[in-house]
Amino acid sequence: MTLRELQGDGAEALDRAIELAARLIALANHVVALVGAGLSAESGVPTFRGPDGLWTKHGEPDLRDYERFVEDPKRWWEMRQERASRFAELAQALDTAVPNAGHFALRDLEEMGRLQHIITQNIDNLHQIAGSQAITEIHGNRTKLRCVSCNHRWPLEGFEIKEFPPKCPECRSGIVKGDTVMFGEPIPRDALDECINQSRMCDCMLLIGTSAVVYPAAGFPVDVRSSGGALIEVNPNETPLTELCDVVIRAPSGEALPLVVAKLRTA
Ligand SMILES: [Zn+2]
Repeated sequence: MTLRELQGDGAEALDRAIELAARLIALANHVVALVGAGLSAESGVPTFRGPDGLWTKHGEPDLRDYERFVEDPKRWWEMRQERASRFAELAQALDTAVPNAGHFALRDLEEMGRLQHIITQNIDNLHQIAGSQAITEIHGNRTKLRCVSCNHRWPLEGFEIKEFPPKCPECRSGIVKGDTVMFGEPIPRDALDECINQSRMCDCMLLIGTSAVVYPAAGFPVDVRSSGGALIEVNPNETPLTELCDVVIRAPSGEALPLVVAKLRTA
């Protein structure tokens, strides 16, 4: 019998999935949420892939972006404004986006001691705005800058840029760039190490709004699963990870996660 047959369909199935998810979370010692674009999309942030995706509308991104930065960081900084205007739609959506009920539910879970860490693929800073504390951003954060040598990070606002490209005020040798990870850019080592560390400790992982096709994120649930941990998917759509999951909640996170919080509060 498949998981879907066990859970059935409709509202009753959703209730049952919420209940099972709450039970698995309550039993776990170290819960980690792996978050993808689906959660941000619920806050109105446009996605890149899919029919309405930015890449679908404006063409594929420059896959040599990071290479170009390494070749000529001065020029990269000079062109920054120009590139920003190409993605004005995204920038505007990001500037006005606010956390949704899913973000706040994750903050609640952390405050209740039921969620130990968030690994997010989103760059929009919405977890921080919602009040979550333990967060690793694999693809960086659009409101920050980062030194490519020592990985020190600063808020974009208030960072004084005296020259192009700016030099790192901490290690004094590295070059500073936007924290958002570019195409072709390796995931910053400190973030990747933290993700590996978290996946190792994790005995229950929530897969929220992620299609989990992009590595390295796609590998974390597989690692958790193979060490005997539980996987809970919260996604309106089926993903390549669905069949690995112990519980599947087929609903948007803004609907599902507050129900999981409520269930844990009354347990
Ligand atoms: Zn540095």
